[in-house]
Amino acid sequence: MSRKVRNILISGAGIAGPTLAYWLLRRGFTPTIVEQAPSPRVGGYVIDFWGLGWEVAERMGLTPRLLRDGYRMKELRLVNDAGRPVARLDVDVFRKAAGDRFTSIHRGDLASSIYSLIDGKVDTIFGDSILSIQQDPDGVDVNFRNSASRRFDLVVGADGLHSNVRALVFGDEGRYERYLGYYAASFNAPGYPIRDKGVYVSYALPGRQLGRYALRDGRTTFFFVFIGPPDRNGGRVGNSEHRAALQRAFGGAGWECPAILDAMNSSDDLFFDAVSQVRMDHWSVGRVVLLGDACFCPSLLAGQGSALAMAGAYLLAAELEAADGDYTVAFQRYQSRFKPFIDEKQKGALRSAGWFAPRTRLGVRLRNQVTRFMNAPLISTWMVKRLFADHFDLSPYPSGSLPAEITDKSYPEGVQAGKT
Ligand SMILES: Cc1cc2nc3c(=O)[nH]c(=O)nc-3n(C[C@H](O)[C@H](O)[C@H](O)COP(=O)(O)OP(=O)(O)OC[C@H]3O[C@@H](n4cnc5c(N)ncnc54)[C@H](O)[C@@H]3O)c2cc1C
Repeated sequence: MSRKVRNILISGAGIAGPTLAYWLLRRGFTPTIVEQAPSPRVGGYVIDFWGLGWEVAERMGLTPRLLRDGYRMKELRLVNDAGRPVARLDVDVFRKAAGDRFTSIHRGDLASSIYSLIDGKVDTIFGDSILSIQQDPDGVDVNFRNSASRRFDLVVGADGLHSNVRALVFGDEGRYERYLGYYAASFNAPGYPIRDKGVYVSYALPGRQLGRYALRDGRTTFFFVFIGPPDRNGGRVGNSEHRAALQRAFGGAGWECPAILDAMNSSDDLFFDAVSQVRMDHWSVGRVVLLGDACFCPSLLAGQGSALAMAGAYLLAAELEAADGDYTVAFQRYQSRFKPFIDEKQKGALRSAGWFAPRTRLGVRLRNQVTRFMNAPLISTWMVKRLFADHFDLSPYPSGSLPAEITDKSYPEGVQAGKT
């Protein structure tokens, strides 16, 4: 039985998959990606990006591009039914507390930036999906929905909250998905007339929150969170049912809700899902391992899903290299080192649930009050250093040298591949 590995199949070209492919390539492995979408998926809303994810992005030479494509958000503004501000948060206070290693970026721009580093360098099969996985002591046979079957040394499931690899190898989603009581949705629309450049404007009712942020290409990104009972499909119902659910939750509400629901009805990139965590005792079975939302989704309440997915990818590749390709050692170290940190992040996300969508009028008022307090530099510094800090040390994991495949001139302008 050979434990040394080279050829690694990654299911999913979201955030974790391409990050892992980049680091595997850089550490001398040969990754292949299979992605069910016909091209890289670039939907989603504006996310805050900092901490461990920032550190990994720096090691990939990505931060100049993330700063270029990201937004220097000025203010979080909470408004009432009439659109009048009831609380403001100066985002600069937080940015300073994070040492300026912070940006707000559209998830699609983050995904594209990462993918651009491996585009043309990693064999990527778009529009396909794994049908079956058969392991034996020396490798893994993979059958695809459309492509010919192939054999790999390892398979990584980086295919998100509703992971296909997890379902095929680890069992039914219901065993691992913990629904947190909310649904989230987002979409992007051109031509929304009210812009408030640099300001995230947010409106809350008990159990519901709706926000908007103006993108620089003339579009506006919208983000909804609302309380709802668990759905037996885990929130993955058809698009028309998503729209109907949002209409039920926000129809008849104040502020700009009617105009935003109109824009939603004519949008074609609605993202809708349950707000869930994924909790698993074991992240690997034999030659198959999970990564990112597939095994440790912290939920959007953690505000760090993408960053943690990138950090996990970095660590998994580093452990595979450190173990000289001995996957049993690498998988064991990857989980034992990263899981305690993830467990803390998941607990922290549960604590912030009340802030995201307070359930009562009193809760909404309390949230507004707390938001006002957060402008005090002492409080925001404490929050950044204590509540949001990533207590995980990447320094034992050096980036390694750059192989020829990823030192060519094909990187986007202003981006230096992998300069650390
Ligand atoms: C299009 C999109 C929009 C999103 N928008 C938001 C958002 O607005 N707010 C939010 O909080 N989170 C959003 N997320 C989730 C968030 O981005 C994740 O927490 C984070 O990206 C974790 O990274 P990941 O790579 O583990 O998972 P993901 O980024 O979810 O990537 C998983 C990838 O696997 C692919 N995939 C799924 N099933 C299969 C299969 N059977 N075969 C092959 N490939 C498969 C998916 O198409 C996707 O590209 C979004 C995810 C996606 C895919």
